[in-house]
Amino acid sequence: MLIRQVKAKEGIMFDLLGDTKRTDYAGELDVKSASKNVVVMGWVHRRRDMGNLIFIDFRDVSGIIQIVFNPENGTQLHAKAHKLRNEFVIAVKGKVALRPKDMVNPDLETGEIEITAHELKILNDSQPLPVQINENILADEDLRLKYRYLDLRRPILKENILLRHKIILAIRNFLSKHNFYEIETPLLMRSTPEGARDYLVPSREYQGKFFALPQSPQIYKQLLMISGFDRYFQIAHCFRDEDLRADRQPEFTQLDIEMSFATQEDVFEITEQLFKEVFQQTLGIEIPTPFPRFKYSEVMLKYGTDKPDLRFGLEIKDLSEILKESDFKIFSSVIEKGGCVRAINAKGCGNFSRKEVDKMEEIAKHLGGKGLARMRFADGKFEGSIEKFFSENVKKKICKILEVKDNDLILFVADKEKMVCKILGEIRNYLGRKLNLINNSKFNFLWVTDFPLFEWNEEENFWQTAHHMFTMPKEEHIKYLDEPKNYGKIIGQLYDLVCNGVELSSGSIRCHRIDIQKKIFNVIGVTGEELERRFGFFLKAFEYGTPPHGGIAPGIDRIVMLITGAESIRDVIAFPKSLKAVDLMSESPSEVDEKQLKELGIKIMKKGV
Ligand code: ASP
Repeated sequence: MLIRQVKAKEGIMFDLLGDTKRTDYAGELDVKSASKNVVVMGWVHRRRDMGNLIFIDFRDVSGIIQIVFNPENGTQLHAKAHKLRNEFVIAVKGKVALRPKDMVNPDLETGEIEITAHELKILNDSQPLPVQINENILADEDLRLKYRYLDLRRPILKENILLRHKIILAIRNFLSKHNFYEIETPLLMRSTPEGARDYLVPSREYQGKFFALPQSPQIYKQLLMISGFDRYFQIAHCFRDEDLRADRQPEFTQLDIEMSFATQEDVFEITEQLFKEVFQQTLGIEIPTPFPRFKYSEVMLKYGTDKPDLRFGLEIKDLSEILKESDFKIFSSVIEKGGCVRAINAKGCGNFSRKEVDKMEEIAKHLGGKGLARMRFADGKFEGSIEKFFSENVKKKICKILEVKDNDLILFVADKEKMVCKILGEIRNYLGRKLNLINNSKFNFLWVTDFPLFEWNEEENFWQTAHHMFTMPKEEHIKYLDEPKNYGKIIGQLYDLVCNGVELSSGSIRCHRIDIQKKIFNVIGVTGEELERRFGFFLKAFEYGTPPHGGIAPGIDRIVMLITGAESIRDVIAFPKSLKAVDLMSESPSEVDEKQLKELGIKIMKKGV
């Protein structure tokens, strides 16, 4: 290898790459590579300079391998290797050797081999890193986000991003094989209603007018069905200016899918096969299909949420019927007013301390509830301050419904149904974690179907779509669109895919008939000029032979989290926003020049004005 020394800096002679060619990637070498002459290129991950022998943990995109510099291979080479520091960029020519048995490193994939260096090129140096990447103790996340390009050198993060690529590739291959076409849709568009706030982009040419960044390509994918593309998909960037939450990103990626002449069954089948294939190709895991299906009303009743984690039991039971005439007025009056009483049996928690019970009470109150009523069951009888209000007959029924055994703790919530679900759903998840009932190596997929199309907005007294306003009601419910008293009964052809308590995707069979779509708009009070202004162009398209169609949009970030086991959404996105929805690395959003604002006709009001 020709070594051309070009620049001296602090005693380091830099080399040019010249015509040096890489022959191998570190992570791809194994015992079969023993005796092979190789050239590798990458970074000094860690160094141990023993004076005589110098060991480098050498890193490239594929992994880490040990390189040994032995003075026997030349004093000049050895002197040069002494100069290496962490994160220097090097090219090394050497020979792969088996490590002696007692030197094998079981923590390293390439731990049975090493490279004995014969030539070294120092291609670049590095300042000491502001965030360490070769240690287990991590720097504060905000600092790591500021230096994200360095944090991404951490093998675990790098693996997540590479696995993300594999997942997307598997998705693309699968869908292409099944006659789906990948079609890009605009990022600058009219605002689409997906229930969140839009990110707006001001127009310079048309001052005072704005584009919106898509909350999803919903409208375009439906238009593509009208155009006759039959099966579409896109790895789509979506933008939602929502209130901050730990597991959300203002900008996220969704696998957007739409199919013509499709029923719910068709969408389920293709989605299940897709997930089967992706899990098979990335984790080598066979996930059982078809996924079980639950109606929305059933999961809300049994698990208190529309995204239940079914890796554990602890079902919620409704006790309203047997408690409506109990002497416990707090319960009976709630039921009388149209609320309900439900309970969960915290199995084996009869000996929970006061502190442990208070913690659950706190959860209930934090969610806006009044609290948790409770009874323990010990030595064949109930104990607790409310026990005296229940007759033996009622107690017997409670025992039967909740399968009560000694040392169980029964937790009751009496409130409006929505609040009862919210509290007991959360308590159930809390108990699942606290009692270690969750098997983290399991993937529990399920469909939730039969969501109501509309929900009544109690604060403002109007009907709003519960999920998606372009959804077809169940065929037998279409007639209710003409009967205001039955609006609440209309079930939409809506479905969610849930895994391990996370909503992976939503979708629906769309309303392809303009007469039905207009009735839906009528129910939610979008009519006349407002309808024309917001959706005129979209509805116009429906006049020209729109096929029945439907689709779904699994969240890519969530899928990658599931497959990699990452706990934070920020660990599966190369350049995520921080918890406060800012890019700490480029320091955006940022102020812009006065000139730019002027061109856009924008004047910034003082904060608070
Ligand atoms: N556009 C919907 C969403 O982003 C998904 C769908 O209905 O396909 O939630």
